[in-house]
Amino acid sequence: MSRPVRVRFAPSPTGLLHIGSAHTGLFNWLFARREKGRFLLRIEDTDTARSRPEWVDAIFEVLEWMGMDWDEEVVHQSQRFDRHVARARALVDSGKAYRCYYLPEELEAKKKQALAEGRSWRNDRRYADITDAEAEALEADGRKPVIRLKIPEGKTVFQDRILGEIAVENETIDDLVIVRSNGTPLYHLAVVADDVDMNVSHVIRGIDHVTNTAKHIHLFQALGAELPEFAHLPSILGEDKKKLSKRHGAVSVSEYRDAGYLPDAVVNFLSLLGWQTGDDQEFFTRAELMERFSLDQVHKRDTVFDLRKFEWLNGQHIMALSNEELWALSKPFLVRAGLIGGGQPGGQTDVDSDGRPVDHAYAMEVVGLLRERCRTLAEFAVQGRFFFTDDFDYNSKAVRKHWSKDPDGVVARIGWLRDEFAALTEFDTEAVEEVVRDLSEREGLKAAQFIHPCRVALTGEMAGPSLFHLIAVLGKEACVDRLENARVRLPKVVEKAAVGQG
Ligand code: GLU
Repeated sequence: MSRPVRVRFAPSPTGLLHIGSAHTGLFNWLFARREKGRFLLRIEDTDTARSRPEWVDAIFEVLEWMGMDWDEEVVHQSQRFDRHVARARALVDSGKAYRCYYLPEELEAKKKQALAEGRSWRNDRRYADITDAEAEALEADGRKPVIRLKIPEGKTVFQDRILGEIAVENETIDDLVIVRSNGTPLYHLAVVADDVDMNVSHVIRGIDHVTNTAKHIHLFQALGAELPEFAHLPSILGEDKKKLSKRHGAVSVSEYRDAGYLPDAVVNFLSLLGWQTGDDQEFFTRAELMERFSLDQVHKRDTVFDLRKFEWLNGQHIMALSNEELWALSKPFLVRAGLIGGGQPGGQTDVDSDGRPVDHAYAMEVVGLLRERCRTLAEFAVQGRFFFTDDFDYNSKAVRKHWSKDPDGVVARIGWLRDEFAALTEFDTEAVEEVVRDLSEREGLKAAQFIHPCRVALTGEMAGPSLFHLIAVLGKEACVDRLENARVRLPKVVEKAAVGQG
């Protein structure tokens, strides 16, 4: 019977969860879910100088947000210190590891000498077999030993699920320090001891760890444990082909969350970094990924983080949601932009920035008009601003393009539109379209000569959702007021836009 699948995600809580780390976590999670195995979470917080409890909370929060649920209790590596040291002592007792009393400067001198003689240095195990009395004498002399694992002669060969066969000559690996002279366990020991105790069947991690794997294999073997399978994931690069870092912009998952990316889009986008299905499909629901993800389709080439593709995918996931869902998700962004008040505590009512209730049907229509245009939830608050407040600026480019060339004519046209709209009894898309058509015929002008200046007057912008639809959604009162306001302010606005032109 094959071993039950148990994988672990082992982030170090030294900052906000990095995209690369989330990617590793996600591939573990997808693999576990696909294989009906277990996804375990281990917080590698042994670096006390860099680990902080708030980063641990941030990891939980982001994993929950991404929908990456973990099985079993979280393992905190720092709490297993005694266990790691006990493991090392047992290795000493069984002769697989030894206490090494060399001083760092002595080792340095030996390495230098070997180099000068054209040899490579490996620990000569001078202290491996000393008696207790000799050890006591060394310690009385002020020496404190490290514990080193004996690396056997020969070659370490393993089959990486992604990289294929990897062979390492053991003579290139020095006997590994697993406990420092101050008695604290080293990273390699902690990782392997925990993997053994957690009965991890597959170690799936970033390729930057591949050089550790031969060492880890020796530790697994020394501990008498079954070897897990190894899979090393490709590196994520920025568009300049350098390793993804802060220089490339936002690199933590929470920054994307705060910028209005959807968890499903993050999951979808990250899954495509290194995984290919063989067809052209790029949009995947979470359920599809859980069904289709396979380690055998992960490639070894580095993979490039393409922000435009990420935005596009996010837009696709936005389109996959109902207006109701989108309203709920975009509300925090509208609140943050000061456009709505977010409702009374505990109540259901949303209020606009003036404290007036936001009609639910209105919200649904607004979302319906914006959904195709917004690639992030944050854009609902930018592109949709004019739906929630009269307080918007006239974009000076839009003013120059559609108002400045014929200000008197535009003032007249805006005035006619105001009067005709005010006179409508039925204020819907068809009726406003008819107004524009009739006016352009009457005045011998093109419909565009009404449409463009009118959009600037009502929204401040030169582009946006279908004008007749947005007019109908804004409603008669708001449109008439805004047209009048624009008509009065137009000469000054045109003047200012000209100055700003540079
Ligand atoms: N804590 C390590 C990291 O964050 C992961 C170690 C491992 O997966 O073996 O890179």
